[in-house]
Amino acid sequence: MVEVLTQQGEFIAKGHWQIGSIAVRVLSFSEEESIDGAFWHRRLATAYAMRQQIGIAGRVDNNTYRLVHGEGDNLPGLVIDIYGRTAVMQAHSAGMHLVRMEIAAALNEVMAGAIDNIYYKSETTLPFKADLYPENGFLQGGSADNVATEYGLNFHIDWLKGQKTGFFVDQRENRALLERYAKGRSVLNMFCYTGGFSVYAMRGGAKLVHSVDSSAKAIDLTNKNIALNFHDDERHAAYAEDAFKYLDRMGDQYDLIILDPPAFAKHRDALRNALQGYRKLNVKAFEKIKPGGILFTFSCSQAVSKENFRTAVFTAAAMTGRSVRILHQLTQPADHPVNIYHPEGEYLKGLVLYVE
Ligand code: SAH
Repeated sequence: MVEVLTQQGEFIAKGHWQIGSIAVRVLSFSEEESIDGAFWHRRLATAYAMRQQIGIAGRVDNNTYRLVHGEGDNLPGLVIDIYGRTAVMQAHSAGMHLVRMEIAAALNEVMAGAIDNIYYKSETTLPFKADLYPENGFLQGGSADNVATEYGLNFHIDWLKGQKTGFFVDQRENRALLERYAKGRSVLNMFCYTGGFSVYAMRGGAKLVHSVDSSAKAIDLTNKNIALNFHDDERHAAYAEDAFKYLDRMGDQYDLIILDPPAFAKHRDALRNALQGYRKLNVKAFEKIKPGGILFTFSCSQAVSKENFRTAVFTAAAMTGRSVRILHQLTQPADHPVNIYHPEGEYLKGLVLYVE
């Protein structure tokens, strides 16, 4: 914990310090405010109250949501996702790691009655140079029941080994939108991970749904989630294959394609390659999608701006000679709020395109 002062020694802010490109993650602009258990309690209670007020927390048909989104909830370096009665907590800074027990205690108070378990998952998100040796594990409880509900659909959440906190909570509203377009369509869900979009497409009445991911584990998860909701429904099939290979060999049977790749640019210096990657990927979809088809295309790279992403996608459309119209411009949902003083927090970009 450090204080930030002017050259004259006047107080500006206090926060967590660590080596790296962000020197201080500011927690408070008040000199009087102590960063203690009561502080964590206040910030978590504010985050929870907002999600209740906007109708995300406390629903019967949905118990999967993000409770804390870093800077967006004035808690830089901290992410907490809720899956049913389990909270999965992730520290992205050394400071948050060091106070994890205090935060867990506050979380327990704020969410009393709503959660039983707190799982800590920071092995891959902390700066390795900080020599912290974090271990993943339960700070409280320890439930093997890992089925959570999103808008009435059930998902196995692999918080032990899965990517991020186990699920891509940030695509919830976009998955719900996809459901509305799925009826009677032949759907390709590329980069399916847990099969989120596939499960919604099935409920939306798709004619067939093909899920593709290069990870065999992702394909297992997808098959499990389809079975959980639709048993052995023959409309669905999943393939463990590289995206570019699959897009090259597939026919022109699909009239609804989802492209939700991993972040192609993790840093600004990878931007050029990333934009080329998005362009190439989208070219392949435009080449094959049926006339009258709908493309849901995403980028979750923070380093890629909305404008850059649009240019990559529109260039791809122009290169293939397809006539394309924008139906929707998508972003992250309200439980991933953007702090107006940290516009970088807006990372998810999506376009829904009608392809003539
Ligand atoms: N759409 C998902 C999230 C996608 S995450 C959801 O809504 O939950 C990105 C996925 O891309 C990961 O599961 C990863 O295994 C997969 N992936 C990464 N590189 C790939 C490649 N070259 N081909 C196919 N899948 C790939």
